[in-house]
Amino acid sequence: MFRGGYAGKILRIDLGQRKTADVDYPEELRKKYLGGRGVAAYFYYRELPAVLNPLNPENKIFFITGPLTGMPVLASTKMQLATRSPDTGHYLCSNSSGNFGPYLKFAGYDGIILEGRASSPVAVIIDDAGVHFQDAKHLWGKKTTEVDEYFKKAFAGKRIGVISIGPAAERGVRIACIQVDGRSFGRGGAGAAMAAKNVKALVSCGTRPLPAADLDALKGSIAQAAKDVRQSKRSHTTHGTPQYTEIINEFGCYPTRNFQTAVFDGINTISSVYMKEHYFVRNQACYRCPVGCAQVCAVKEGSFKGAESDPEYETIGAFGGQCGVSDFGAIIAANQICDEEGIDTMTTGTLIAFAMECVKRGLISGAEIEGLDLRFGNSEAMVEMVKRIARREGLGDILSSGFSQIRGKRPELEPYMMHVKGMAFAHYEPRGFHGMGLAFGTSSRGACHNVGGWTIRDELVVKKYDRFATKGKGRLVQTLQDNRAYVDSLGICTVVRGALGFGDSPSGKVLEYVTGYDFTPQLMNIGSRIYTLERLILNREGLTRKDDLLPERMKEPLPEGFAKGRDITPAMYDEMLEEYYQIRGWDRNGIPRQEMVFSLEIP
Ligand code: SF4
Repeated sequence: MFRGGYAGKILRIDLGQRKTADVDYPEELRKKYLGGRGVAAYFYYRELPAVLNPLNPENKIFFITGPLTGMPVLASTKMQLATRSPDTGHYLCSNSSGNFGPYLKFAGYDGIILEGRASSPVAVIIDDAGVHFQDAKHLWGKKTTEVDEYFKKAFAGKRIGVISIGPAAERGVRIACIQVDGRSFGRGGAGAAMAAKNVKALVSCGTRPLPAADLDALKGSIAQAAKDVRQSKRSHTTHGTPQYTEIINEFGCYPTRNFQTAVFDGINTISSVYMKEHYFVRNQACYRCPVGCAQVCAVKEGSFKGAESDPEYETIGAFGGQCGVSDFGAIIAANQICDEEGIDTMTTGTLIAFAMECVKRGLISGAEIEGLDLRFGNSEAMVEMVKRIARREGLGDILSSGFSQIRGKRPELEPYMMHVKGMAFAHYEPRGFHGMGLAFGTSSRGACHNVGGWTIRDELVVKKYDRFATKGKGRLVQTLQDNRAYVDSLGICTVVRGALGFGDSPSGKVLEYVTGYDFTPQLMNIGSRIYTLERLILNREGLTRKDDLLPERMKEPLPEGFAKGRDITPAMYDEMLEEYYQIRGWDRNGIPRQEMVFSLEIP
């Protein structure tokens, strides 16, 4: 019997009927899948069919918090979603920080299942008294920041969390994100799925925090963890995730000009040090986070004067190195447009870099870009293309549909598309550390470093593994994936997981102090169960080994830098993939064997 951490029920919202129902959230399910990503995947598997148009009303969005979300624990800000991705066409899991998850739990719900389609734009408010539908026609077309402001005023004096979509999602941009209190469910186009349901915003404003099983013990343990985090994550506070920009470039693993090289010659003016000196304004922190890693930056002069946003490492990489742009002001401006319009920065930058290479090679005509000088390094053209994507104008319309759709429309451009399973590569060069290639290839949602495994620490920083070796990478990637899968199900930010004892050898008592149940010995097994369930979902949607392969470009040796001459040949990749499948208990086609499914007690 759980004595804290869970509200004990999930809210089902039928938009077409404007009806709600409480969904039972059995203890057995929580013990097997924890919450967050695990439980979202469980509902997805149970409630969505194998074949489905992500923009049809039959698609659903499962927003699920974890047992630690909103609890008096560090960075207990996270919520997960699962839906059929409008960008890739397959299963999508995504996580976001923000206040929405905590205040949803304080209203008595562990999650929301959003289904059907409203007949006209709505906002849904969830408070202590229940669920209220509000007409949102007057908000349709508004930027995400305007929607936030509107609800802050409407609920002045109250603590609220706001989930919203921007105008890009309403226009059907398939790489649209969902904004959550200034953070986002970024990749995979969940914003387009929400727009297709005619939902402009969800607002949570519960006021009744949940009990913890042993609050005194929890407070003691968190006080110590907070001290540790402030010390160990000081670099996150001072430079945020942009701190990796210089390091990854030095390692020769910084994707540049659509992965044509991995060293960026303009690094000095997009580095974290340069950012701090010339653009930094203030830190920003998520709910209950002592780190405050977000670096709010502003442009004080030049073409992009007045722009303000908080670019992460991945965003700087996508608009910087990938597009060959060394003007940090342009990166801030592009980031701001993406946030306000509600589109994913990482995917947008990578798509523009792809288009720049195609233009250079004469594969995209001057007519298609309507006079825009879309060459690498042209910051003005890059920012203009972000706007065109958001508005679906000209070439922007094609790019706005994401790699999966572009493949169908323009198959001749496939050699220059850097993606796996339709999702654009994150900002790491696998030819410079091969475990990252396996992570991209086997990630449940496509070429993602979070879900797939952040191998940077083990391969580049502490060098536990030879970065250019293939042997052993199967084990590394599987361990990172399982670790991340259970952490994504807890409701905390990954940055604080170590201090709370949630590594790949879980320790610590925080989860027990919250729930009254000792999950610790089973956590990695729960991660493995979640990952295998996600694989069964992908198999059901027709994805197998053929979809785990990397783009052709990985066979080309890198031309310069620390990893000069390195490539990933099909034989090298096969070796890693074989080892990985074997460890996972999947067959040679990437399908989990029955005995493994049985031993993990799935679903
Ligand atoms: S470390 Fe950064 S991303 Fe994580 S919760 Fe804190 S401020 Fe948010």
